[in-house]
Amino acid sequence: MDNNDILITTLSENKKIYGYLAITKNTAEQAQKNHNMNIISSAIFCRALTATVLLGGNLKNSKDILTLRWNCTGPVKSILIETTGEGNVKGYIGNNNLQLIEDSIFDNTIKAEPYIGFGELNVTRNSIDGKQPYSSVTVIETGEIAEDISLYLEQSLQIQSAIKIGLSINKDNQIEASGGLLLIAMPDATEEDVKKIHSSFENIHSFTEILNSNIEETEIIKKFLSDLKLEIISTKNIQFKCTCDENKIKGFLKTLKKEEFTEYITEEGKIDAECQYCGRKYSFSPQDLEN
Ligand SMILES: [Zn+2]
Repeated sequence: MDNNDILITTLSENKKIYGYLAITKNTAEQAQKNHNMNIISSAIFCRALTATVLLGGNLKNSKDILTLRWNCTGPVKSILIETTGEGNVKGYIGNNNLQLIEDSIFDNTIKAEPYIGFGELNVTRNSIDGKQPYSSVTVIETGEIAEDISLYLEQSLQIQSAIKIGLSINKDNQIEASGGLLLIAMPDATEEDVKKIHSSFENIHSFTEILNSNIEETEIIKKFLSDLKLEIISTKNIQFKCTCDENKIKGFLKTLKKEEFTEYITEEGKIDAECQYCGRKYSFSPQDLEN
């Protein structure tokens, strides 16, 4: 599968506003395929994936990890997504076969709130440069992915932001477009800067429409955010990629107690396991696990 997904980091002329533009179509498609998600589960998960990629825009080192976990009361149950500074993304949704809730489609968009409900959004950053991992928990207030990310930034980091997430899935569950835009005002930004990040979004009624119109990423930045005078400072590729392998799964299986182990044994006497993050399936014989 071709992969054209990217994350572009931009900085305003006065260095007070960061902007992140993410294109996540192929990454979302891969996640959808690996986890066999139906259309509603895809609609919720892919937006959470884009949000995580956008928030991971400021990971400094390639091995730094940002993890977002929604623990929610709604039928989604949970969403976990991890992204690295290198641009590798993996994750899963607690329910890959969500059933349509009446009145959850508004303006041609599946609202997340009826499926997420309330709960907690947990954000963890692990940096390889020796700093203590950073972790914060905020209450899921709106149940909408973009809004709750903005509230997290404001409440946990005292950062003003504006965020748009776009996603287009056709009725055959094919992802046509997926991406997002996040603008962040640095803590020392003036009131005018903060106003600018909000007002610049007034030109953008639907980010999904922009994604669907096939405008080049750099043109999106120029055309819709011209008032902010954003310079591109870096671009990186984004892909769905897990770090699991046979040895790691074997190692995990070997740590299990006998009673925990039985659920992995098939009728044929094989030992089957699946990586929760990426959905990859592994099969071992009892002899494989002996050495
Ligand atoms: Zn995996």
